[in-house]
Amino acid sequence: MWKCPKCGKTFKNTNQSHYCGEKPKTIKEYIISQDKDKQADLFLMRQILRQALPGAEERISWSMPTYWKNHSILHFAAAKKHIGFYPGPEAVMEFKEDLKKYSVDKGTIRIPYGNIDIDLVKKIAQWCLNTGNHA
Ligand SMILES: [Zn+2]
Repeated sequence: MWKCPKCGKTFKNTNQSHYCGEKPKTIKEYIISQDKDKQADLFLMRQILRQALPGAEERISWSMPTYWKNHSILHFAAAKKHIGFYPGPEAVMEFKEDLKKYSVDKGTIRIPYGNIDIDLVKKIAQWCLNTGNHA
């Protein structure tokens, strides 16, 4: 176990990245609480999703940046080596072919940093919006 000297939280891994102090309340706060070298990609994700989901509200839900319109449309989150993009299992099935270049799991797409396919993320987000998909 490792205990963060700043906030006193304990983790399995030494120097685990986490929120030191208050939890972020907005997507912007979430992004700036991540490592500096990840922020450009996370801001890019946010920009793509804002454009693809007009009228959706940005919120933090399950500790993840979330786009919301009557229900949660999708989430994303910063992981150590990738961005977790969570559009739900139906969306992952629907775009199975396009997603061959990424590691995917039921409802989860792992996008390595520096490797965001802007058109694909946009296409998936719009599909989620248009079909009323729930993440
Ligand atoms: Zn801490």
